[in-house]
Amino acid sequence: MESIKVHDKTFVPYLKEAEIQQIVKETALKIYEDYKDEVPVFIGVLNGVIMFFSDLLKYYPGECEIAFIQMSSYAGTESTGIVYQKMELTKDVKDRHIILVEDIVDTGNTVESLFKYFTETQRPKSVKLASFLLKPDVYKKDFKLDYIGKEIPNKFVLGYGLDYDELGRNLANLYQLEEGQINH
Ligand code: 5GP
Repeated sequence: MESIKVHDKTFVPYLKEAEIQQIVKETALKIYEDYKDEVPVFIGVLNGVIMFFSDLLKYYPGECEIAFIQMSSYAGTESTGIVYQKMELTKDVKDRHIILVEDIVDTGNTVESLFKYFTETQRPKSVKLASFLLKPDVYKKDFKLDYIGKEIPNKFVLGYGLDYDELGRNLANLYQLEEGQINH
């Protein structure tokens, strides 16, 4: 794997496709352990989750349904915080066991808004969260993060669904912002 340039920044290889797949497979099986006797609804948080969501489902051996939610929380390489204009959910999940699926949990603002939205307006039977990545040094909330693929340092990552100003989502490997470049 080689470094790549996206817009004005250089990104260095961080996780290869095979390592990513292993993480995703283990996460899917962990979830299955808890939902063997249920038909959960996996809810993908667009757009960053696309790759993780699709792979997670492929490795999930049980019955499940899917839905998506679209919200806006992010611009460029820095979390902008809390103003979400959009919450568009593609399925009614009242009385269902739902698993929110995120690409990455950074500050936890997104997760917090999602929990609030689902518990206050959708009335599911239960809500759990699965995220491919977590930056534990940044995460400041009390919400339990039920299924985490991998904990990573506080550096901006790109690829496998994650973008830098809309580019890079289609990369099968994960990259990290090169050392010495500003993290936003
Ligand atoms: P939070 O609300 O937890 O601070 O941030 C969650 C969202 O910020 C993620 O869904 C993702 O879109 C974006 N994000 C956070 N860290 C990164 C990162 O390192 N790389 C990219 N590409 N997006 C990130």
